[in-house]
Amino acid sequence: YLWAESEMASQSEVIDRLRASFRSGMTFPEQFRMTQLQNLLSLVEENEQLIQDALHKDLHKPKFESVLSEIQITLNDLYFAMENLRTWMQPEYNIGKNLATRMDDCFIRREPLGVVLIIGAWNYPLHLILLPLVAAIAAGNCAILKPSEICQATEQLLAELIPKYLSQDCYAVLCGGAEDTKSLLKNKFDHIFYTGSQVVARSILLAAAPHLTPVTLELGGKSPCFIYGHIDIQKAAKRLCWSKFFNTGQSCVAPDYVLCTAQTRDALLPALRETLRTFYGPDPGASLDMGRIVTPRHWRRLMDMLENSKGKVVIGGESREEDRYIAPTVLVDVQESDALMQEEIFGPILPILTIESLEEGIDYINRQEKPLALYVFSDETSVVTTVLNNTSSGGFCGNDGIVHMALPGLPFGGVGASGMGSYHGRWGFETFSHRRGCMNRSWLLERVNVLRYPPYSDYNLGW
Ligand code: NAD
Repeated sequence: YLWAESEMASQSEVIDRLRASFRSGMTFPEQFRMTQLQNLLSLVEENEQLIQDALHKDLHKPKFESVLSEIQITLNDLYFAMENLRTWMQPEYNIGKNLATRMDDCFIRREPLGVVLIIGAWNYPLHLILLPLVAAIAAGNCAILKPSEICQATEQLLAELIPKYLSQDCYAVLCGGAEDTKSLLKNKFDHIFYTGSQVVARSILLAAAPHLTPVTLELGGKSPCFIYGHIDIQKAAKRLCWSKFFNTGQSCVAPDYVLCTAQTRDALLPALRETLRTFYGPDPGASLDMGRIVTPRHWRRLMDMLENSKGKVVIGGESREEDRYIAPTVLVDVQESDALMQEEIFGPILPILTIESLEEGIDYINRQEKPLALYVFSDETSVVTTVLNNTSSGGFCGNDGIVHMALPGLPFGGVGASGMGSYHGRWGFETFSHRRGCMNRSWLLERVNVLRYPPYSDYNLGW
């Protein structure tokens, strides 16, 4: 493994150094947190071109997608945190008191947890590290960052820039793969914030257990998209294609599959075909706006799903191994038992599952693990409300996909198998804070206290 710093310190040496900094209280003052957030802002603003280049190297990300979903989303969260930091840090005094505590000082303090570990996934390799870091800094913690090794250019860039801009006494980057992370996890942290797959999440929980370390898990799942009832099918097709094929379908909140009636499907298919042609031209493989699958292994995984599906490819289906390309692809007549309907797809493949009624669709969703996001496209408010009221998911968006995650006012996180805990904006600050319930008792009214002191008698119960 490699620490992003000149000295080759051992893992425990770096953790000890961060812990000593935390204990010194240097991360507690508002001014320190604000300066670090400002430095992080400069890191992103001053290195925008380097960041875009790294993301293009790793994922073939189009510039627009890098700016929107990596750079801008980070800047927005930073501005939001800097604007609200003072308010978030204030003790909360609005506590319901009773007769016995009415003379007392009762308040909640948001206190930093200590040295936290942030482990990121490869699909948004910058923002999945920097957004949790914004929250950890705002809440006054020290942090060790472990970017995904799969996106090597972004990983190296973070390793180079973080020590240049942020306090090296309080923040460190570890580069490396699963084995390095496993060894890192043997150490005690005060919180682990993990983004990635459900399989690895289980080993994170196991590693956290001996230390009783609290864990936030930002996982994935199969996010369904209902298209139901009366609807402008052209608009729906545009919003669906954008949210599904953005980042080449490699978004944890991408619509994973569509649920609609046969009638809607028949209207939707020509609209999808036309939209994709408008977005990416006659050959999406030649479009600068279409990314690539992150690794040969992931390309093979997606191709296996596609080749073994009993569904019929009606749009796309072309692929090239040499540059890990898969065209935006739509399938119909897929079966529940297909791998495509069993695992999270995480690529530019969209199966359409036909249903006879809204109830059938809701029933289907409720038989699966709880998804990270759920989408309903419909002109009819009653359809949107019925789905919302009868299902559970990490987040929800009516009449669009993905965009709900860009609003820092909304908590972002999963439920059930799609994760635990949340972040973005204030929710991230809360995740990395301990809410310490405090009471400073008054020395007055000792006459009332007499009632609780021994020797007890039935008289004591009379109060
Ligand atoms: P990944 O392979 O990059 O792994 C994520 C991190 O876990 C990496 O830093 C990696 O080094 C580390 N890791 C891998 N194996 C490990 C092990 N055995 N022990 C400890 N650490 C280990 O990414 P991935 O897991 O392929 O990520 C894709 C998944 O992440 C998808 O399911 C996706 O939906 C989900 N995801 C969720 C969110 C969210 O915010 N909820 C965001 C992005 C991705």
